[in-house]
Amino acid sequence: MNKLMQGKRGLVMGVANDHSIAWSIAKALADQGAELAFTYQGEAFGRRIKPLAESVGANLVLPCDVEDISSVDGVFDRLKEEWGSIDFLVHAIAFSDKSELKGKYANTTRENFSRTMVISCFSFTEVAKRAAELMTNGGSMLTLTYGGSTQVQPNYNVMGVAKAALEASVRYLAFDYGEKGIRINALSAGPVRTLAGAGIADARIMFNYQRDNSPLKTTVTSEQLGGSGLYLLSDLSGGVTGEVHFVDAGYNIMSMPRIESLKT
Ligand code: NAD
Repeated sequence: MNKLMQGKRGLVMGVANDHSIAWSIAKALADQGAELAFTYQGEAFGRRIKPLAESVGANLVLPCDVEDISSVDGVFDRLKEEWGSIDFLVHAIAFSDKSELKGKYANTTRENFSRTMVISCFSFTEVAKRAAELMTNGGSMLTLTYGGSTQVQPNYNVMGVAKAALEASVRYLAFDYGEKGIRINALSAGPVRTLAGAGIADARIMFNYQRDNSPLKTTVTSEQLGGSGLYLLSDLSGGVTGEVHFVDAGYNIMSMPRIESLKT
């Protein structure tokens, strides 16, 4: 039987190590026969990513810092040269100054607001534009978001504002590229212990709270994130675009903690 992603090629941006959500998705794609290219931010990450990429048979592993648009162009020029076209894109990139991922959102500086928005939100629009040019046969793009976009989560602060803008971008991009048969979606993940996740103050308290109060009373696994990512990037989700798809053990539907946890 043919594998789900057999004959499809795509780019995965945002693997820092084997805990990264992008890596969970990459593994699921590779298991289903996809051919992958990866980007990394800086040589230190590059050294970690190259063996991971090799383990899934990928040999296109390219440097890319989304703050430097020439490095983004370099990636897509190289993909065009090597492959001519692509079928999917994973964008799992976010950054904000750690010192502002605690305390009050009201204290966000102009400098960090702009940097957070460019790296965590606008980079998806810039990358999507270049990826769409290579999606000559239609395609699917996926970015990563978090429920702090629509509900206040203490310490998530400016990242919540960036994720709200990212989710709005997903809807506008879905409309812009829909006629080319290109679908754009966001996967809203429950908390996962990653480098980026650890940058948020009191991440462990939030992680445990969501685990204890989600309907499934657990946190999400890398296999679950990989499976949902695979679904959104494959033809199985052919009729789905512009969506924010929660993969959070159901936490987003709750309006309050479990009653028993409030009885002391
Ligand atoms: P991670 O630290 O493994 O990945 C973040 C990636 O962003 C890294 O690979 C890093 O190199 C990249 N990045 C940051 N600045 C960059 C730049 N200027 N240019 C290029 N790349 C840059 O952490 P993760 O948790 O896997 O994060 C991936 C995505 O998932 C992020 O968008 C994050 O907001 C989102 N997310 C994470 C969680 C969580 O709990 N960890 C939950 C929901 C959504």
